[in-house]
Amino acid sequence: MTQNTVHAYAAPSPKAPLERTTIVRRELGEHDILIDIKFAGICHSDIHTVRGEWGEGGHFPLVPGHEIAGVVAEVGPGVTRHRPGDRVGVGCFVDSCRACENCRAGLQQYCTGELGSVGTYGAIGRDGQVTQGGYATRLVVDENYALRIPEGIALDAAAPLLCAGITVYSPLVHWQAGPGKKVAVVGLGGLGHMAVKIAHAMGAEVTVLSQSLRKKDDGLKLGADHYRATSDPATFEELAGTFDLILNTVSADLDLNAYFGLLRTDGTFVQLGAPEHPLSVAPFSLITQRKAFAGSMIGGIPETQEMLDFCAGHGIAAEIELIEAERINEAYERVLASDVRYRFVIDAATI
Ligand code: NAP
Ligand code: ZN
Ligand code: ZN
Repeated sequence: MTQNTVHAYAAPSPKAPLERTTIVRRELGEHDILIDIKFAGICHSDIHTVRGEWGEGGHFPLVPGHEIAGVVAEVGPGVTRHRPGDRVGVGCFVDSCRACENCRAGLQQYCTGELGSVGTYGAIGRDGQVTQGGYATRLVVDENYALRIPEGIALDAAAPLLCAGITVYSPLVHWQAGPGKKVAVVGLGGLGHMAVKIAHAMGAEVTVLSQSLRKKDDGLKLGADHYRATSDPATFEELAGTFDLILNTVSADLDLNAYFGLLRTDGTFVQLGAPEHPLSVAPFSLITQRKAFAGSMIGGIPETQEMLDFCAGHGIAAEIELIEAERINEAYERVLASDVRYRFVIDAATI
């Protein structure tokens, strides 16, 4: 084994269980840092990808993981942003063109350049190699695509902020959640529980819309003002015309039109969940009250840093269940059964 060979967990083919393996990381370049990964969160997107729900093909064997927290072990000669020993995180992308309008505006996740936003795993990087993610012991990444994790946040609870945290923070900022605003969060999973915490910290009035009342006590403790079951038809009658903003974090198909009915005039429904199949929109459920149906994807590097600093400032991090790597496949099954409170995080020392 050379120094660049690291242990990892990979799916050998679509839908196959993950297994322990080794992968080779690239040599440390001028502006690269080598990160000793300490923790990696399990995002539902990892599961969609491994199961081929976002299209067959892809690059297998595939090492998922884009909620990465660790410590800098080495830096390339030109690195100025990080030093050995620094606590750092890596999220959903590891590079982008750096020249397009979006990259220059710090919206690297929406890169329109030829390279595009290079996913942390399963993408083709600048060097032509397939990227491999964070279910591994070490990672080499360009210094500009690693975030600083503030001292106030434990590394294990910080890892999920790199995807779940920023994915909800960005639309909450963009659509101005704050005092006087009524925000609904659909689905109390990894993204949903972070949305409740962050929207509450921003001062909004927060309602959780969950399939059942099973997690109601948790939801209220996380900062929700109200908690309603979507299995109860009365929820849709009583809350009609209520919300300024609805964040949909559900990983499965949903009857969107029923939820549009919960928006007030000019309200916005933001789609964050990315289920396998197209969803259907009844035009009149939007046009009669000038309602908006929008989407949002993670966040750029500056906003991700802003989110980490916001969370540290408000004493916020993810609620996690720390697992050993050999339990990854079992954790996937539990996520699919909505049995997660509220993010599985892999202890990289067990990889
Ligand atoms: P998760 O932890 O599994 O949470 C999803 C939640 O959705 C579940 O906890 C459950 O909440 C609800 N749900 C699940 N199945 C449902 C069903 N059949 N009907 C109604 N509700 C259901 O997943 P996650 O990691 O938060 O990710 C959520 C989705 O966002 C995934 O599709 C993921 O790929 C996507 N995502 C998007 C972005 C982005 O940038 N837009 C970033 C990350 C993830 P209750 O039990 O409370 O009902
Ligand atoms: Zn994710
Ligand atoms: Zn770009």
